[in-house]
Amino acid sequence: MHAVDRGPEPPGLKPIRKRLTPRWVAYYRDGKGRKPTDSKWRDFHENVSKVFCSLCAYCEDNCKGDVEHFRPKSKFPEKVYEWTNWVLACPTCNTKKGRRWPTGGYVDPCAQALSAQPESHFDFDTKTGEIIVQTGQTIARRRKADKTITDLGLNTYHHLKARIGWLHLVSKALQGRTADDPANKEIVRLVASRESRLSSITRTYLDEQGYTYDEG
Ligand SMILES: [Zn+2]
Repeated sequence: MHAVDRGPEPPGLKPIRKRLTPRWVAYYRDGKGRKPTDSKWRDFHENVSKVFCSLCAYCEDNCKGDVEHFRPKSKFPEKVYEWTNWVLACPTCNTKKGRRWPTGGYVDPCAQALSAQPESHFDFDTKTGEIIVQTGQTIARRRKADKTITDLGLNTYHHLKARIGWLHLVSKALQGRTADDPANKEIVRLVASRESRLSSITRTYLDEQGYTYDEG
């Protein structure tokens, strides 16, 4: 999980938000009317996918994904058509998260403040492939990060297998050449890029191996 800057909302969203949000609020907050069936956020899949570089906002793996509501529709109906509430999520993470919203919420992949971003909450164990809570956190921050990992199943077997398998490939591609070897420059640039899958654990791995890179 890494920080993503969504940028400004796409043109055309504002009138849709104004038109459709009241029904969601009426149903979920005020208990009035029928359950809304619109899902116009799907029309913005391409915009969201581009912002997230076709990577799941939570597990960071390649995905076609779906537009996911970071704050669930049923609990935050006023944010159903808020650009700032949309992330790209793979089917696995999307299903795991569902309607959940614990007290204190989850770590926001699009948080603006540095202290609220994933990089200020998580670390990785490159031996096991696990995402772990950064040391030195307050109890509240630790709970939030831990809840994010647990509820989203970010350390389930298939994620660990994917991360370890990927690091193995990266290590093979680097062929044990030293960090300053020009032959490794392009590979390091590619795998460290936030546009590349699983780049957070990859950067941790590169740090450990003494490589320098531009996060670009
Ligand atoms: Zn995912």
